[in-house]
Order: sequence, then structure tokens, then C-alpha cells
Amino acid sequence: MEKWPLGVFTSIDAGLGVKLEVAHELGVPTIHLHAPNAANRSPAIAEQFLQRLSTMGIVTTAVFGGFEGESYADIPTVVRTVGLVPPETRDSRAREMREISDFAKWLGCRVVALHLGFIPHDSQDPLYGDIVKVTADLCDYVKDNGQDLHLETGQESAAGLLQFLKDVNRDNVFVNFDPANMILYGTGEPIEALQQIGGLVHSIHCKDATWADKPGEEWGCEVPLGEGQVGMETYLRTLDQIGYAGPLTIEREIAREPERQKAEIGKALQLLTELKQKIAANPG
Ligand code: MG
Repeated sequence: MEKWPLGVFTSIDAGLGVKLEVAHELGVPTIHLHAPNAANRSPAIAEQFLQRLSTMGIVTTAVFGGFEGESYADIPTVVRTVGLVPPETRDSRAREMREISDFAKWLGCRVVALHLGFIPHDSQDPLYGDIVKVTADLCDYVKDNGQDLHLETGQESAAGLLQFLKDVNRDNVFVNFDPANMILYGTGEPIEALQQIGGLVHSIHCKDATWADKPGEEWGCEVPLGEGQVGMETYLRTLDQIGYAGPLTIEREIAREPERQKAEIGKALQLLTELKQKIAANPG
């Protein structure tokens, strides 16, 4: 694969991504796919989807798990509802992640990713050990499917995430780096975090955001790529420095306004194309 192929976050029937037709119209060669709802996670649907992808010349580079009942309404709601952290849904969601891994395998995709949720910052908290265990077990399952597991950034600081990866202690667990999430959640300056996580970053999102007045208590604001406080040129140059050559996958989480979403992703593709050319001409 060429360096930094462009991509877009895509949905079949769930999640905040664009429809596959939109990804095709935008002309991207890669997508991250939000896993479909349980009813649509069959080999037949995977086969159909794979055929559509192949006629469009699009490759799925990661399949993201997401769950019924998750809400990103505000930070306390994320703590309560997202990922494998809430104990009451953990077993059923871990089972779903195994199904999603199988679905990804049918698509020929070697990466499964998710938001784990808010891991307790205190590693002595019994909940911390439980989440390490469920994550390690999931790594083992996806490994049998020939896959890696990517944890999306946002809810932890870079240091917290690195400690967690160390505690999970598997050779197929990596990071999906989303710089805007660091700003939205107020968990740290994204460029510094990217440098710290370095070679463990195996997939990324291109998303932008502005800091909240009270970071960590209130949400920051997700904005069109290039209009926020990530600093897209610095972001790409830092990806270059850490040796990341994989897809640049754009996320714009305004699925309720599909026309605007498509237009803004179109502009983001333009911006990334220009920056790629600029950096190729002057690597610095
Ligand atoms: Mg993301």
C-alpha cells in the first residue's frame, strides 16, 4: 500500500460514519468500518459488502466495535455507558466483540478496534484488573482470527494508556490514535501524546476539535478538519517522525447532517492531499 492512503469512517447501519456510497463518491481507497448491528453480522452480509467494496476498489483497514446503549452525550455518561468498562454489560459486549472479530475476518480485515471506555486511573482499583483481563482475552481471540486489536485514544492520558497496554501484555494490542479525542476529553496535548505512544500507533483518525473552557469536565467541540486546535500539518509531520505510513482516516461525527458531513469530508480530503504533497516535497 502507498504511504498515507486516504480513508473515511464508514457505517453500514450503525455508528456515525458515512454510507459506503458516499465513501465511493469521495473517491477514497480505504475505510474504517463501524461494525453493523448484530442482525447484520452474518457471513452472507459480509460477502455482499465485500463484493460492493471490491467493485468500488475500497479496502477495509479496521472494523470498529460499538454497542447498543453507548452514549457520548457528556463525559459522565461516557463513563457510565461506553465500551467494556461498565460491569453489567461487559460479558455480553465482550461476546459481541468476538462476533465483530469474526465479521472482520469474513471481510478479510486484520484489525479490530474499539473504545474501551474510561479505564480507572488507579491500577489498584479491582475494576482495572478486570478490564485488563477482558482486553487480554479479547486480544487472544482476535489473534486466533489473525488480527490485531487497536484501542482508540481519548479517555486516557498517553501515560495511562501506555501503562494499560503494558499490563495487558499481548503482542497484538496497539493504538488507534485520534488527536481530537485528546482535546474533546481534555486528556492531553495530542501531539505530545502521539510522540509518547510512537510506534504503538498502528491506525489513526484525522479529526479536529477545540478545547473546552474546563477540559476534562466539559466536552470540547468537534469541528471540520483544519479548523480546530490539533494542527493538521504538525500532526502529519509527527506521524511521519514516528514512522506511521498507514491510512489517514477522516472522521466527522455529524451523521445527522449527511450533506454537510460529505461536503466537510470532501474539504478535509483536499486539505490532507495538499499537506501530503507539501510534506513529501519538504520532509523537514
Ligand atoms: Mg475516532
